[in-house]
This record gives sequence, structure tokens and C-alpha cells, in this order.
Amino acid sequence: MELSNKAAYIKGLMEGMKIDESTDQGKVLKAMAELMEEMAKAIEDVTVLADETVDVVDSLSDDLSDLEDDFYEEYYDDEDDDDDVFDDDTLYECVCPSCGETIVMDDKMVENGSIECPNCGESLEFDFSDDDTEE
Ligand SMILES: [Zn+2]
Repeated sequence: MELSNKAAYIKGLMEGMKIDESTDQGKVLKAMAELMEEMAKAIEDVTVLADETVDVVDSLSDDLSDLEDDFYEEYYDDEDDDDDVFDDDTLYECVCPSCGETIVMDDKMVENGSIECPNCGESLEFDFSDDDTEE
């Protein structure tokens, strides 16, 4: 609004000067005043449009981050539900021969060589140094 106010102010000043618009100088000044008024309006229109565009882009960006949050949250939640988490730590799975419960172990538990089944308390031993399997 400020630009068109200024243009209108200048136009008002020029009208107050009672410029003779039949002279060459008068014609130039009148044309300049009209041009400034039009430019001020055009710039204000573009500014409003740019503001609206920024608002739209902002809200799109917010929507996108919400979607990303939901997507990744759901993605990792699903993995957790399956007890099948593979992140940076290597995890091993074995099935307790006593109760059939699936047990997830990390590196440290495997290094210990044995664990107790969290379900039935059965002591499970394993040895990954060779491939002997006792049945
Ligand atoms: Zn068990």
C-alpha cells in the first residue's frame, strides 16, 4: 500500500503545481506520474502474490514433514511390532528348543556363549566357532 500512497502523493503534488499539460515538460511529468502509479500497483500485486505463494509453500512444507514423520514412525513401529529390529547393532535370532519362543540376541549375548530363555528359563548354549550342531 505504501508505494501507491507515495505515487498518489507525487501525483497530488504535481496537480497542485498546476503544470501546463500542453507543454512538452508538462506531458513528460504527467506521463511519469501515471507510469509511477501503474508501477506501484503492479509491484504491490506481485508482492501480494509472492506472499500468498510463500504461505502455500510453507503449508506444503509443513504437510510434507508431517507425512514424513508419520511415514517413518509407522515404518519403525512396524519393525518393533515384529520383534525383528535390524538397526546398527547386529542382532541374532534363535528359537528356544524347549518352548519354541523366538529369542533376539545382540553381539554381547552371543559372545557369552549362552543365555537363559526369557520365556521358559531354559539355558541355551551356542558356539559359533564351528558348525557342530548337537541334536
Ligand atoms: Zn524357552
